[in-house]
Amino acid sequence: MNGYWVFHASLGYKYERQPGHGKLLVRDEPVASIIQEALEGFAHGRFETQTEVKRFLESKVDYPKNSDGGVHVQRIVELFFRPLYAGYIDIPDWGINLQPGKHEPLVSFETWHKLQQRLKETSKAPARKDLNEDFPLRGFVTCGDCEQPMTACWSKGRSSKYAYYLCRTKDCESRGKSVRKEKLEGEFEALLMNLRPTQNLFFMAEEMFKDLWDIRLNGSKKEAVSIKAEIRKVESKVGQFLDRIVETDSHTLISSYENKVRKLEEEKILLREKIENCGRPLQSFDDTFRTAMTFLANPQNLWASERIEDKRSVLKLVFAEKLPYCRKDGFRTAAISLPFSLLDDLKGGDYAMVELAGIEPATS
Ligand SMILES: [Zn+2]
Repeated sequence: MNGYWVFHASLGYKYERQPGHGKLLVRDEPVASIIQEALEGFAHGRFETQTEVKRFLESKVDYPKNSDGGVHVQRIVELFFRPLYAGYIDIPDWGINLQPGKHEPLVSFETWHKLQQRLKETSKAPARKDLNEDFPLRGFVTCGDCEQPMTACWSKGRSSKYAYYLCRTKDCESRGKSVRKEKLEGEFEALLMNLRPTQNLFFMAEEMFKDLWDIRLNGSKKEAVSIKAEIRKVESKVGQFLDRIVETDSHTLISSYENKVRKLEEEKILLREKIENCGRPLQSFDDTFRTAMTFLANPQNLWASERIEDKRSVLKLVFAEKLPYCRKDGFRTAAISLPFSLLDDLKGGDYAMVELAGIEPATS
């Protein structure tokens, strides 16, 4: 009740004697940072499935493994459900509901909350079968005729093996007609290359991001006021339910009210956290945008990575939809994602001040 964990330290934490506290949970590195990355990565969609989290954890030398050298998905899910990582002590059986803990959280409550929703959504998602290092575009490129995802395979020629992408849709006129992997992926790389902004355009975009960043920062201070009003509303609702709990003798009603109170308390924590973060960015502009801007400057760098997960990230980040490919004309106009389409609009010519170096990569 005083905010101290009393059980075995969860993975990523260890007990340490601290002045004024006695034994307190503290980060157990490097595992704490690995778990933090996994929690955040899954909450924010960097890892699409639980299997991708599993793969990530298995790739980390310092993360504890089973006797067979792997990590169980079920064990990961158990970890992800623990509010302890968001800094809260939660033992409903003892009547302790989301009590703020004294230990340092690994992630914010908001992230943890998102994580819970993602766990519900993806609990039944099967492992991605179409992830294959040989064919990074499999499942993402669709057949230009039937719009169904193309599949891919190796086929044996007289002297060597060839890799192909092909359509396997029944009754499609392109069914069974294949495109060499080199050709299709080569054309894809050319498409990526075209998205690369010129240097001028890139710097202008960066300036615009900075302006927006400042505007957001100022706006969020006003937001804090309305969030406070929101918290008062939630508190009065909690009060109403607590009154009803006192008045009723029905166990079913009591437990249903208790559930409602718990939901409201969670809402309150989220709102409080929002206020704390209002007008106080977690990281500086430079820290926050370095990765994003580097990626925007040249998505091809990430595509060139050996890791299939990196390649799939490029697809997710750059393209808004799957890419139709026509055997005759190549890739159809792709629906590109928001940052890239904005850069493309800027390139359009309404901005006379920008010196256009064309859509080729700027060499200067
Ligand atoms: Zn087809």
